Amino acid sequence: MYRLLTLVYAISYFWLISLVILRESVMAKLDFSGVNKSTSQSFHKQKDIIKKVLSGKSVVCENCAQTLSLVPKNAAGHAYVNCIKGCTNIELEVDI
Ligand SMILES: [Zn+2]
Repeated sequence: MYRLLTLVYAISYFWLISLVILRESVMAKLDFSGVNKSTSQSFHKQKDIIKKVLSGKSVVCENCAQTLSLVPKNAAGHAYVNCIKGCTNIELEVDI
């Protein structure tokens, strides 16, 4: 009888652990999608900044409020949109 009870306890303990693991993995997935969402938001924000800078509009850095400027492409074919302090530094891939 004692052994049976131990077995029952062991099984319910196992289920409890599985449920906790399941919950943790669901939480991890939720966190992950949250990260994806904010990454995509910042991607759209960057695209917007690039568009404005390329069309000659004045855009300021969110961090230091300095005007963002376009750095022409270097030998590696990368151009940059950055502020003087470097807190905003968006890399552009230029094909031309
Ligand atoms: Zn800045």
